[in-house]
Parts: sequence; C-alpha cells; structure tokens
Amino acid sequence: MPESLQQKLEERLRYYKDLGIRLFYRNRRVGIVLRTGEAKEPSAEQATHRPQEIVLPRPRVEASAIAANARLQRIEPVIASSGLSLFETVEKVQDDTLLKIRDDIGECTRCKLHKGRHKIVFGDGSAKAQLLFVGEGPGADEDAQGLPFVGRAGKLLTQMIEAMGLQRKDVYICNVVKCRPPENRAPEPDEVATCSPYLLRQIDVIQPKVIVCLGAVAAKTLLQTNRGITQFRGEWLEWRGRKLMATYHPAYLLRNPNAKGEVWKDLQKVMAELGLQLPKKKPS
Ligand code: SF4
Repeated sequence: MPESLQQKLEERLRYYKDLGIRLFYRNRRVGIVLRTGEAKEPSAEQATHRPQEIVLPRPRVEASAIAANARLQRIEPVIASSGLSLFETVEKVQDDTLLKIRDDIGECTRCKLHKGRHKIVFGDGSAKAQLLFVGEGPGADEDAQGLPFVGRAGKLLTQMIEAMGLQRKDVYICNVVKCRPPENRAPEPDEVATCSPYLLRQIDVIQPKVIVCLGAVAAKTLLQTNRGITQFRGEWLEWRGRKLMATYHPAYLLRNPNAKGEVWKDLQKVMAELGLQLPKKKPS
C-alpha cells in the first residue's frame, strides 16, 4: 500500500476510534470497505476500482431495549441507505469518561464548523446529573466563553432550571454540535453526523434519568426522525432505555414568549418524573 494511502487510512481509523467505533472487518479480497453493512463479493470492476474499503460491524440490538421502547411512544428512526440509523454504528467505549471524550475531541477539525469557531463548547454541569438538556449548537456568547447556554437564551434556560428548584450545577447542558455554526444557522446533516457521536458518549457516561431536547435539531438528532417537533413535543418518549422529552428551544421562546406556558407544562412533567416538588405558581 502506498505510504500516503496508509497515512490517510490511519487518520481515518483514528477518527473512527475517537467516535467510539473500535471494530472493523477486513475483507482480504478487496482490502478495506469504508461503509456500514455486509461485505459483498466484489464484481471484477469493483475489485479494480474500489480496492480500499472498510465494513463497519452491524451492532447487536438488545431485545430488552426493544421491549422497553414498546412501552412508551416510539418514534421510528429514519434508516440510512446502509440499513443503520446514525447511532447504531457507534460502539460503547469501555470505561469512558467526560475527560476522555474531551481529550478525544482535542482541537477538532473533523467537520467544517471548526473553521469559524473560537472555542469548542463541550458541555457544562454535573457528570452525575439526573437531568440532561441537549441544545442545538453554540451561539456567539458560547463560542466566546466555551460554555453552553450563556447568552440571552442561556439566561432564560437558567431561569427555567431555577424555577424547577434546581441550579445549573445540578444538571448537565450540552449541544448536538460543539462548534458554532456561522451566522447561527442550523448545523448541517454532515456536521451533525460527524459531531453527534460525542454527544452519544456524553449521554452514556452521564446516564441521566431524563433527557430534555431543546428544539427541533436536538430532538431530530437523538430520535433520528424527520417529524416536526410539534408532533411529539411534551410527550414522554423512550430513547435507548431512557425517558426523553422534546420541548421548544429557549431562543424560540425569546421570539415567541407566548409559548413559555407550553414549555413550563413540559418541565412540570419532568419535575414530576424526577420527584421534584411542583411550585404553586408558574414562573414569569
Ligand atoms: S462541530 Fe464537532 S466535529 Fe465539528 S469541528 Fe467542532 S467538535 Fe469537531
């Protein structure tokens, strides 16, 4: 194998390792296949033109996880052409920690969002939080400070957390993508696909009892759905054995204050689930 190709392959394998993908199948007839799915016998033409590919292993889906999903409302994931949803290709990392995940991210340049960022916004809060908030991506204030939800929308989220009788240090807050999308646009599918395995590892480490998705991007990413958030906002959903609720993003509430009441109803359900005392009156 030429040295340049070997280097590229090593970089690619390091990248998959950082994402938690550890097992690869080598097909000796065609080399390594860079896709998920079953290895197929190559045609003579494929063998000539695609000598280097990797087949990622199909993960085992545990029957207990499927049974748990059946008890609550289930959103059918959009299955990629490979036959796998996004997270099914990510293997659990043994003895993973938030520190290890942050180290693996490093000074990440794996997607184009690195070009405009100042600071990577990894996440903030308790590594043992029962409640995890997942947003979309950092904004300008977050990009400058390296902390999630510290701008105007962040202040509103802090107020919401405090209205629940908690403090920010009691929960964990992170985003689907760790770098600020330019002009605060929504992260693009390739950026989400590249960065969200780190989110999955964060969730696996923290093991929260409840996940609250703030806005459509977080909800659609975790649930792997194209359905609009209004179709399932405020409903308890099962996600990999955990309870998940999607609600509106605080930035949406800044533009549409009338929707605050809906979000407060959602958060009251979360409080009940966590055994928190419900306040007598709604926060302003
Ligand atoms: S958004 Fe995620 S994958 Fe993209 S550069 Fe930042 S840390 Fe890396």
